[in-house]
Amino acid sequence: MAEILLTSDRTLMSDYHKNEFLGFGTCAPPNFVPEWLFTYLFFPHMKTKGGIPKTAPYGLRKVEAQLLKEGFNVATVSPRYLHRFIGKAKVLGIHVMDPFGLGPASSTLASILKKEPYLAKHFKKLLGLREILEAKKHGLKIIVGGPGAWQFKYRPDFVDKSGIDCVVEGESEKILATLFRSALNGEQLPKHYDVNIKDVPQTFEIPDIVNPSINGLVEIGRGCCRGCEFCNVTTRPLRWYPVEKILREIDVNIKLSKNHGVCLHGEDVMLYGSSNVMPHEEKLLQLHREVLKKADSISWSHCSLAAVAAKPKLFAQLSEMILSKQRWWGAEIGIETGSAELAKKIMPAKARPFKAEEWPEVVKQGMGLMHDHFLAPAGTLIVGLPEEREEDLLKTMELMDDLKDCRSLIVPLFFVPLGKLKSEDWFKKAQLTELHKQLLIKCAEHDFRWAGNLMDITFTDKWYSPALKGGYKFFTWIAKRKTRQQVKEFHG
Ligand code: SF4
Repeated sequence: MAEILLTSDRTLMSDYHKNEFLGFGTCAPPNFVPEWLFTYLFFPHMKTKGGIPKTAPYGLRKVEAQLLKEGFNVATVSPRYLHRFIGKAKVLGIHVMDPFGLGPASSTLASILKKEPYLAKHFKKLLGLREILEAKKHGLKIIVGGPGAWQFKYRPDFVDKSGIDCVVEGESEKILATLFRSALNGEQLPKHYDVNIKDVPQTFEIPDIVNPSINGLVEIGRGCCRGCEFCNVTTRPLRWYPVEKILREIDVNIKLSKNHGVCLHGEDVMLYGSSNVMPHEEKLLQLHREVLKKADSISWSHCSLAAVAAKPKLFAQLSEMILSKQRWWGAEIGIETGSAELAKKIMPAKARPFKAEEWPEVVKQGMGLMHDHFLAPAGTLIVGLPEEREEDLLKTMELMDDLKDCRSLIVPLFFVPLGKLKSEDWFKKAQLTELHKQLLIKCAEHDFRWAGNLMDITFTDKWYSPALKGGYKFFTWIAKRKTRQQVKEFHG
């Protein structure tokens, strides 16, 4: 039995029916769909063998790999079966993405629907498990980390009450061994450990995963060069992994999970291997060529509209390679605003190599190319930025009109103070103006229009695909009706 256990709550320990986009459902609060059905549709339980999950969140796999490399006795377990392992454990590591629902998507939905999102509910549920409370009485140390670690600074009481010994914020590879060793020795741990910039690992210091990640996700690099003011990623240096490292991790996923699908994870996949804002053609093509020799399908975690618009021929080439294996692929993109003025203030480098003044044009070009080449993006808009004016909102609404024929989902998110804007105020539902409401409605109508098309091209390959598709279509139908009711109330 392992001395160190790693886990996450059930909203993270799911393969989302092999579709990462569905994971966004975890940001919603309990709603008009019965909980059992919603849970099944958006975050079904992960399959396990003897309590060991078939695949696990990539971040948790990195922690596991680092601890194994340093000689620790560690196991990643499903939260459902923690009771089987926890008796012998001395330390429990928990991976978090959005533990209190303070992230942009979940806080927006929570604010509108006035309920706690599923992901926050399940995080609390995990820490309240009887087996964890019991193990705490016998000295279990709890260490929490992951992209959502920043949220604990807003909930210091929760940290004390729930028995968390240490929260780690930042890239932890180089400091994990010291922390876990101290925990095993029963020593006092720092309540909140911010990883110092000098401890951020270089690529050769980041271990390969040794067990499979959810949906074949593999990192291709870390950091971003664009420096948007509202973003946390800007604090990290830009690093790209060599192709060989990426392929080794894909091999682990294919060999151990039999999943031949690959999700390339980077803040801007189009900039793979580049040290500036122009895509590096050779490296990007080589990456895709090599990955496609192994993979059945590819998706991208994120890409920038500017890099797509800057290299339309390269993008077409990539699309041709990817579409030789599948009908479409997805990526998250940041639109944020349709106002060139606002873009200049809060994300001056987002449009590069184009000028910030050209941002709305860059968005239209990039989205048009994505539509033509079957990349279906999930785009975000930020509502309530500190410097936002009515004129900016009108420009964003104009942009939404221009994007109506682009196959995409576009989600408006309330401003969350992060990055260089972390001392600003949160945006709340009470601050919604008539224009904000109109923008929210426009986005909802856009998404309802394209959701059906996306479902049709997504759920095709399994015997149960028609039933699953029926479930999502039913959900979308009810959501549409509810939204229209809300619209009436907004204006009533
Ligand atoms: S482009 Fe995206 S990841 Fe990069 S700084 Fe801007 S918001 Fe962050």
